[in-house]
Amino acid sequence: MKALVKHPDTVGLALEDVPVPEPGPDEVLIRVLTTGICGTDLHIYEWDEWARTTIPAPMTVGHEFSGTIESLGSNVSGFFVGEMVSAEGHVVCGQCRNCLAGRRHLCKQPKGLGVNIPGAFADYVVVPKTNVWRHVEGIDPEVAALFDPFGNAVHTALSFPVLGEDVLITGAGPIGLMAAAVVDHAGARNTVITDVNTFRLGLAAEMGRSRPVNVLDESLEVVQKELGIVEGFDVALEMSGAPSALADILANTIHGANVALLGLPSEPYSIDWSTVIFNMLNIKGIYGRQMYDTWYKMNVLIQSGLDISPVITHRFEAEEFDAAFAAIKSQESGKVLLSWN
Ligand SMILES: [Zn+2]
Repeated sequence: MKALVKHPDTVGLALEDVPVPEPGPDEVLIRVLTTGICGTDLHIYEWDEWARTTIPAPMTVGHEFSGTIESLGSNVSGFFVGEMVSAEGHVVCGQCRNCLAGRRHLCKQPKGLGVNIPGAFADYVVVPKTNVWRHVEGIDPEVAALFDPFGNAVHTALSFPVLGEDVLITGAGPIGLMAAAVVDHAGARNTVITDVNTFRLGLAAEMGRSRPVNVLDESLEVVQKELGIVEGFDVALEMSGAPSALADILANTIHGANVALLGLPSEPYSIDWSTVIFNMLNIKGIYGRQMYDTWYKMNVLIQSGLDISPVITHRFEAEEFDAAFAAIKSQESGKVLLSWN
């Protein structure tokens, strides 16, 4: 089969012929249809220090995908050959305190598909049966391939009640854009999404009724006045990892605001902790998806009419992977997909 393999000591990936993986007794073999490229994959492609110290190269990478079940291990029941699935990309240990208590998203030592174990940028991928997620019937395979990052968006966006609230989202990358769509769908009064990237702010304007703000051109204080927000945003979702974005959140939220942080900063930075304390802010870190509450919510959000497909801006065949990575690096992109048909 074809697979995108990361080799040590070189930048980039190689499309190679490798053996189709064999599912073990508790595993499922999936025929991959569509994959999404994540920021994590770009780190791996560029072979930066994090990637060099993390990825057991040579290895097939990739973790965002949809596909159909090809075959089942001997201990697997409840799934059927041919049905459309994705997979939770965090393979949990099952033995730590949180796993045993049913809080699998808080596992002490999760393994990442396409990061620590062979991934989905291939014609076939094997995953444990406990990681397989069945999609609703009739779902677009491209939308199904977004469920990993869509899950980050849903987990973050629904961390706090948003009905009737004014919500600030900092960062209009694919996850921020999807989070804005979720918050709108969930009944926020105002959704404001900030970035410095005009292409992505344009996508935000196309995707729904959120108010895009380029923080280089506009002040959030003025935007608040325009929207009739009197005491600051009630909920803030930080999706960029930029220190200035968290500073904007501290300066523009109501006392007691709920703040969720998903964007990964590239290095440690300082913030004004006095504002956190005096304004009694509630700050929560988010990583991955809740297993499997977030996945359930994704299914029903799609069924209830939420359309996340406008976040997809580029589609490539697997052979065109270099062009796909170039599209991500250009920053003039939303979600970039690779097809394995
Ligand atoms: Zn665990």
